[in-house]
Amino acid sequence: MRRAWLLLATLAIAPAALGQTMDFAKVEIITEQLGPNVYMLSGSSGLDPSHEDAAGGRIGVLAGPDGILMIDSQYAQLTDKVLAAVRRIDGGPIRYLVNTHIHRDHTAGNAFFAKQGAVIFAREELRDGMVKLSQAPNAASNPVANPAGFPVITYGMGAPVKIHMNNEIVHFIPIRAAHTGGDTNIKFEKANVLFIGDFYRNYGYPFIDLNNGGTLKGMLEGLDATMKSADANTKLIPGHGTIIKRDDIIPYRDMVVAVADKVGGLIAQGKSLEEVLAAKVTAPYDAKTAGGTDESTKRFVTEVYQELKSGRGR
Ligand SMILES: [Zn+2]
Repeated sequence: MRRAWLLLATLAIAPAALGQTMDFAKVEIITEQLGPNVYMLSGSSGLDPSHEDAAGGRIGVLAGPDGILMIDSQYAQLTDKVLAAVRRIDGGPIRYLVNTHIHRDHTAGNAFFAKQGAVIFAREELRDGMVKLSQAPNAASNPVANPAGFPVITYGMGAPVKIHMNNEIVHFIPIRAAHTGGDTNIKFEKANVLFIGDFYRNYGYPFIDLNNGGTLKGMLEGLDATMKSADANTKLIPGHGTIIKRDDIIPYRDMVVAVADKVGGLIAQGKSLEEVLAAKVTAPYDAKTAGGTDESTKRFVTEVYQELKSGRGR
């Protein structure tokens, strides 16, 4: 009896929390050119239980005579394939790596690319999160907790960091606690491409990672800030899902606000989390939300409930 329960509990957490069910050997890295010298690398679909649309987090690459700048570093198990994909674009030195946020599908390959010579940039909060992970009991088995992959240059909520290379200006734009406490948008000014990490997603409902410092308020602010960083022609590249344009953010933001308003109304009526979940507040959006599984819906509504219930508001 006890054994059966344990097995069930393990199965329940395995895909989302540990990624153990994913066959990394089958993943291919697909390269798409976004501008004269800007590329995105995505994992193949149907393999990652957490992101059926594409395995792991998306990577950005700026290549040219001044060397390579990368955005995010994927799961640790995919770094050889990512490096091979980068090498198909350009053989030059990998000089800089910037992380959009701390999640391991975006940072677990950091130590590998640091070894290739990359100087890692990220928000102060992201580095603090990694340091905390390195002090946890399971640190030895967690690639995100490997100090060799910690950011070397960190920044706060001030003006964007600018990198001038390959006839491009790259802006690391800090975003207030949204998907996590240490989010960054990365803009390629001349190519007019904006990598926006995970606080916007069009595969499943939004993920406000409260355990890593994310907030509902920051998510809405981040969406506003993203719209300000883009014009009507900017290509916006989420960490997962399809490429979008600035105005695609409007209905997404409206959805977050509408769900938050409904949840807030139910909280005001004294409803419990269970009652709020049973009220199906996302129903008007479910058909339009690709990958909007029960799990992703429940996670999002629970996060909104917790944020509003705690008084942090929106
Ligand atoms: Zn993420």
